[in-house]
Amino acid sequence: MNWITEIARPDIRALQPYQHASWEPGLVRLHANELPWRAPMDTSESGLNRYPEPHPHELAARLATLYGVDAAQVLPCRGSDEAIDLLTRVYCRAGRDAVLITPPTFGMYSVAARVQGAQVIEVPLRREADYGLELPALLDVLTPAVKLVYICSPNNPTGNLIDRAALLELLRVLSGRALLVVDEAYVEFSGAPSLSVELGRHPGLAVLRTLSKAYGLAGARCGALLAHAEVISLLQRVIQPYALTQLTIEAVFRTLLPENLSTARERVAAIVRERRRLAAALAAHRAVLRVWPSDANFLLVDFADAAAVLQQTHTSGLLVRDLRRTVTLNRSLRISVGSPEQNDRLLASLP
Ligand code: PMP
Repeated sequence: MNWITEIARPDIRALQPYQHASWEPGLVRLHANELPWRAPMDTSESGLNRYPEPHPHELAARLATLYGVDAAQVLPCRGSDEAIDLLTRVYCRAGRDAVLITPPTFGMYSVAARVQGAQVIEVPLRREADYGLELPALLDVLTPAVKLVYICSPNNPTGNLIDRAALLELLRVLSGRALLVVDEAYVEFSGAPSLSVELGRHPGLAVLRTLSKAYGLAGARCGALLAHAEVISLLQRVIQPYALTQLTIEAVFRTLLPENLSTARERVAAIVRERRRLAAALAAHRAVLRVWPSDANFLLVDFADAAAVLQQTHTSGLLVRDLRRTVTLNRSLRISVGSPEQNDRLLASLP
C-alpha cells in the first residue's frame, strides 16, 4: 500500500461501497426498477428512462486521452467542485485533520473543509510578492494534521500562474505527508503545460481539471480529478453512483469530437486576444489603478472607486465580481473576459 492510501481516513479505506445494479448495456434491463419508455421530451441518445453508467469508464478513458494520462488516473466528476468535496471527505477526519490554502484563492477549498469539520490553515499570497507562492512561509505552518495542500494555478481571483519549480519543490517536501492538489481550472488560457505530466513521478500530486471554462460546459457540470490510481480508487468508494447525468455524458462526448475540439481551441485563443485588448484598454482608463497580469479568462482590476464601478456596470446590465471584502483586494473587482461586444460594453460603462 502506498503512503497516499495510508494517510486517507481509515474508515473510508475500510468502507464497503454501495453495490449498484450491474452494467451490461447489451441486455434488457429488468434489474433497476426503471420505466421501459422514454419521457415524451426525451431527445437523448440513450434514453433518460435508464440510469447512466454508474462509474462512466468510457468517459474516464476519453478524458484521459484529452488530458494525456492513463484512464486509471482519472475520476470524472460533477465539476471540479465535486472533486474538492471528495478529496476533503476521503482525507480529512473531522476535528483532527487540516487543509492548507493560500488566500486569496478559490472559496470552495475552505468551504469543503469546514463542512467536513477539518481545520483550515491559511498562508496568504502577498500582494507585495505579486501573489506568487512563498514556500518558506508555507513550510513554517505545515503540521502532521495537514492532509491536503491546495494551490490554484492560474489562481482565482489573482489570475497568475504559480511557479512550476516551486510546485515541484513543494511536491518533494509533502511526499509521504500530504497531497498537493493543483487546481488547473484555467490552465488552458495560460498556454502553460499541465503539471499532470508529473503524476508518474509524484504519487502525492492531484490535479483538478474542468470542462466548465475552456470547453464552455459550465452548465453540464463535468470536471476531472487526475491523480494516482490509488487516490482515484479511494474517491470512487465515496462518489455517488450515477454522479454524472446521461445528458452530461452525451454532451461531453460531443464536445470532445475533433471538429468541436478545434472550435474550443479557437475560442480559447479568442479569449486570450480579448484579454490582452481589455487589459490594455482598462490600464489606460482613468478609473483604473492597476490591471494585474492574467493567465486566465478573467482580469483582477484595482479601481480608484470600485463601488462606483460596480454601480455603473450594474446599471449598464453587466455583472462583475466584487472582491472588496477580501483582504488586500479592497479596491478590486474580477472581470471575466467576454465576447468583443461584451468587453466594449464593459469599457463604455466605466465612470
Ligand atoms: N476551481 C476554480 C479555481 C474555479 O474558479 C472554479 C469555478 N469558478 C472551480 C474550480 C469549479 O469549477 P467546476 O465545478 O465548474 O468544474
